[in-house]
Amino acid sequence: MTRVDSGGRRLLVDCGVAQGREEMAFPEAARDAEALVLTHGHLDHIGHVPTLLEGGWDGPIYGTQATLEIAKLSLEDSLGMQGLRDNEIERFLARFRQLSRPVPYGERASVLGLDLTLHEAGHILGSASAEIASAASRVIVSGDLGRPDSPILRDPNTEWARGRAVDVVVMESTYGSREHAHTHDDIERELEAILKDAIARKAKVLVPAFAIGRTQTLLYFLDSLVEARRIPEVPVMIDTPMGLAVTKTYKRFRRLYDKESLAKLARGDDPLDFADLFAVERGRDSRKLHDVEGPMVIIAGSGMCTGGRILGHLREGLPSPNTTVLFVGYQAEGTPGRRIQEAAKRGGKVRVDGEEVLVRARVATLRGLSAHADRKELRAWLASIPGVRRVALHHGDVEAQTSFAAWASRRAD
Ligand SMILES: [Zn+2]
Repeated sequence: MTRVDSGGRRLLVDCGVAQGREEMAFPEAARDAEALVLTHGHLDHIGHVPTLLEGGWDGPIYGTQATLEIAKLSLEDSLGMQGLRDNEIERFLARFRQLSRPVPYGERASVLGLDLTLHEAGHILGSASAEIASAASRVIVSGDLGRPDSPILRDPNTEWARGRAVDVVVMESTYGSREHAHTHDDIERELEAILKDAIARKAKVLVPAFAIGRTQTLLYFLDSLVEARRIPEVPVMIDTPMGLAVTKTYKRFRRLYDKESLAKLARGDDPLDFADLFAVERGRDSRKLHDVEGPMVIIAGSGMCTGGRILGHLREGLPSPNTTVLFVGYQAEGTPGRRIQEAAKRGGKVRVDGEEVLVRARVATLRGLSAHADRKELRAWLASIPGVRRVALHHGDVEAQTSFAAWASRRAD
């Protein structure tokens, strides 16, 4: 989270749960903010909103309409997992709705007498960079920045009002030390090869996927392969209630899609749907899938196998050579996902869903899917902003920040 103080007013940008090592107490400075701006609906940017509201905070919450919708779904899901009762969750959601103030992209909103403009960030649907200007200062907070040419999403904004210097740019630096090596064509080809191999073996393909962003990107690639007849017909199950809800939200806000996806829609091809795609709403239907023979693709949460319906599928599927587990995202150290990747290499057992199981499944990793700009893309975004006086880096480990600061300033000379 970032607090922007300008012209005597206090604005909080994002209110997330710190992840991994950075775990820390809720900062008191957040409670003094008079308004909150959400850049997007990922939990590391919104997860502490309930903490803020519990303490009696009742300022307005700004964001694009899509971000506020995704935030609601995401917080409902996360509060449920924390064991809150339905009526408590409902009370929180009602409060959140009451405080929500949607702001369309590119339109200037007056917030506490400051000018707030949200610009496309291209990271997930609704994601934005926040520009906050007053007579005293002009500040831009990047939020998470996506990659140019990402499926479905428009590119991060690079057109800024000229004529006035920007005092501070606060920007993310997740990939500040790296460059993405895979193009989208590479990803499609790799996915095609993995699926063809699995379909030929009549295997079940289990895909642990994050519900927000990653599931929809994957559907986009599957739709492209299906429509181009590059893979044989195979049923694809979306077995994640949260993933289904977020996919519906993407479709409701399809006006925010990029040109390529809008062109697909105009041709009658929904980029997030195809004939053999099925929604698995109920838990008991998910369990029934355990007994259905492949070939079949099952997309289920959670992305790092720490919970959710993927666990049941893994428990049943890992011991069988007739299973392919396809990872589509980074598996952090210590997560069941990482342990499965390691067990697959040395051939061993893992504990899944309370059971020790032998890993005999094929385990593949689809590389290159990333919702974050790499260092070249970060630098290009920064270079598009006129007259930057200072840059502050966050949302990256210290190594990425130091490396990006050195690399970007060298390149700027
Ligand atoms: Zn994010």
